[in-house]
Order: sequence, then structure tokens, then C-alpha cells
Amino acid sequence: MKNDFVATVTHELKTPLASTRMLVDTLLEGRCKSDQQQREYLELIARENKRLSRLIDNFLTFSRMERNKRSLDFEEVAPGALANTAVETVHENYERCGCKLSIEVAEHLPDITADRDSMVQVLLNLLDNACKYSEDDKLIKLSVFERDHAVCFEVADHGIGMSPRERSKIFDRFYQVDQSMTRKVGGAGLGLSIVKFIVDAHGGTIDIESELGKGSVFTVKITGNTEE
Ligand code: ADP
Repeated sequence: MKNDFVATVTHELKTPLASTRMLVDTLLEGRCKSDQQQREYLELIARENKRLSRLIDNFLTFSRMERNKRSLDFEEVAPGALANTAVETVHENYERCGCKLSIEVAEHLPDITADRDSMVQVLLNLLDNACKYSEDDKLIKLSVFERDHAVCFEVADHGIGMSPRERSKIFDRFYQVDQSMTRKVGGAGLGLSIVKFIVDAHGGTIDIESELGKGSVFTVKITGNTEE
């Protein structure tokens, strides 16, 4: 497991590093055809840099989780603010991938007791997956609403979906339904195990409805008060 982890991390870090190094070399050697191309290269570098930071965040969370040291900083948070931060963060990547995101946040939602950064990370991982595992119909919806005195964050896609058997395993560390697919879209099989860890730490639940070829709906339910 440990070797797997090191190999995956190394691979995931090396790819964007190699591509940005090439772009930087081209810029340094003044081999750009135009100002516009120069700008495009800089934007690519900035994007890869952001992606690397996110990857590293995930790896760090994972490694803290492994050592059982993830400390959460609970405070009263407005659910809509968490959704907005996540949406702002994925916006650029969604645009680049041709994904459309619709957002629906119910009015008058109660605050939840949550660790802000961790809950944003939950939403980011779910939104990233929704985009990665969508093919032709790239319409993704993020809804935040109240149900049974709990606040629900729901991420719905019309992507490749999964079978009930796969669904039972996707929260396992390093589990990926189709490794050739994930090699293409990037990922280490850690995103959802991190999601589950964080949601558990908030005393919440996560439900999945999914159908092969039709799409998936992930619903995170946060009931409110948590034990610290
Ligand atoms: P990865 O880095 O591989 O995306 P995750 O832990 O986030 O790792 O997800 C585990 C696996 O669950 C993925 O490799 C993929 O096979 C499946 N999966 C996750 N989200 C979705 C989704 N929205 N639609 C279809 N499959 C999904």
C-alpha cells in the first residue's frame, strides 16, 4: 500500500511538473510566436500550478488522516458560503473542460458547525469527480438544501455512473473503477476516501445514487452539532 502511494504521488506530481517545465523553457528561450501565445503559456502554467496545489492538499490530508492527526477547526458556517467558495475554485477548470455547472442554494438555510476548509475540500473533490467522469452530457448541478433538520450538499452529474458493486467500493483508498480512465483524467483514488473521512468527522452521512451510463448523485448530509 505504501509503495503504491509513493508511486501514485510521484506520477501525479511529475506529469504537471514536466509540462510546466517545458512551457517555462519555451518562454525563457523567447521561442513564443506572439504575445498572445506567451499569455496562453502563462495561463497554462498558472492552471497546472493550482492543480498541483490541490493535489498536494489532498495528499497532505490523506497522510494526516493516516496518522489520525487531522485536526478540525469547527465553527458556525453558512452552507451557501461553502458552496460559493467551491464553485469559484472549480470555475476555471469547468470552463476549460466544457462542463456547465448550475447551482441552487435554498434560502434561509441554518448555519452548520463545520471545519470550513475541509468541507470546501469535500465539495471540490465531488465537483472534480463529477467533471472528470462526465462524457457527452457535461451538465453538473450543485444543490444545497435542508432536509430532516440537516443541511444537504448534493452534486449530480449525467456522467458514466457506476454499478452497485463498484459503488460499494469507491470510498476505499486507492480504489478506482477503471484505471485506464483515471490515468486519462488524473487522480489517485484518494478523493472519495478523504470525502468520507471528513464527512464522518462532521458526524454526517454520504449517500450515492448512481446508474451505469446515466450518472451519479452524491449527497452529503450534515446534521449540525459535532463532537470535537
Ligand atoms: P480518483 O482520484 O480516481 O477520482 P476518487 O476516490 O475520487 O479517486 O474516486 C474513486 C473512483 O470512484 C474513481 O476512480 C471513479 O472510478 C469512481 N467515481 C468517483 N466519482 C464518480 C462519478 N461522479 N461518476 C462515476 N464514477 C465516479
